[in-house]
Amino acid sequence: MHKAIFADANSDYDNAKYVICGVPFDNTSCFRRGSKDAPQEMRNNSYNFEKYNSFFDIDLQDISIHDAGDLDVADNVDDTLEIISSRARKYVIDGKIPIMLGGEHSLTMPFVKACKERYDDLGFVVLDAHMDMRDEYEGKKNSHACISRHVFEDVTKDYVSIGIRSGTRDEYEYVRENDIKVFSSEDVFSMGIEAVTHEIRERISGPVYLSIDMDAIDPAYAPALGTPEPYGMTPREVRDVIACLAPKIVGFDLVEIAPAYDSGGTALLGAKLVRDFIAASAKAL
Ligand code: MN
Ligand code: MN
Repeated sequence: MHKAIFADANSDYDNAKYVICGVPFDNTSCFRRGSKDAPQEMRNNSYNFEKYNSFFDIDLQDISIHDAGDLDVADNVDDTLEIISSRARKYVIDGKIPIMLGGEHSLTMPFVKACKERYDDLGFVVLDAHMDMRDEYEGKKNSHACISRHVFEDVTKDYVSIGIRSGTRDEYEYVRENDIKVFSSEDVFSMGIEAVTHEIRERISGPVYLSIDMDAIDPAYAPALGTPEPYGMTPREVRDVIACLAPKIVGFDLVEIAPAYDSGGTALLGAKLVRDFIAASAKAL
């Protein structure tokens, strides 16, 4: 079967500013698997939308976007991260803004590391229902349940998370002890997203890597997830975060959609958020 590329990704690699790549890997997912199918589902659903993005007032067909297809993966997480890290590094060294479509959340690491190698003052903003602050999970250090811990410990202390509403008591204690900035989904609800984005802008002034774990969004809007968690953010709040940070974003990913668990709506929303990111970023450049 012919595999569609992401809609409006009409540029060749050399001339592209944005490089989309899929990583069809979900082996450390613990509850529902299937996020390996999300990159292609998002590509298929990306054709639903007009080329003209009215909210950001920009035409996606006028933006230089390349779809590099799906990257090769191995059958275990450590080898997969090793394989994709050379691609991530190449995109960033070549001056591209990588857009990684997961797959599971552990896949973020090679991309954020590649950005850190180029941008020494890199900040990291993650939208997630979950802390992901375990040191290891089910014996695996590179589990999707540990990504935030390893980014904070090994990549950058300029770390902010938004939408959090799940973690172990140990994870909550670790966050308190290390004075890590977490905006829970209750904070978003009570403060309003504008106050949250305002505070983030004050805390992080340099280049930003933005990672969206789709389960930050309420399962009412996005039910097809590896680990759904009620009381989440709205899609509009996520778009507000994207719009606020877009001028500073040097790397972006969207992970953890498990398409088999709905009739396509979650992958559709994922595709829309990717398109909104590209529109917002290109508008700001
Ligand atoms: Mn999550
Ligand atoms: Mn996560």
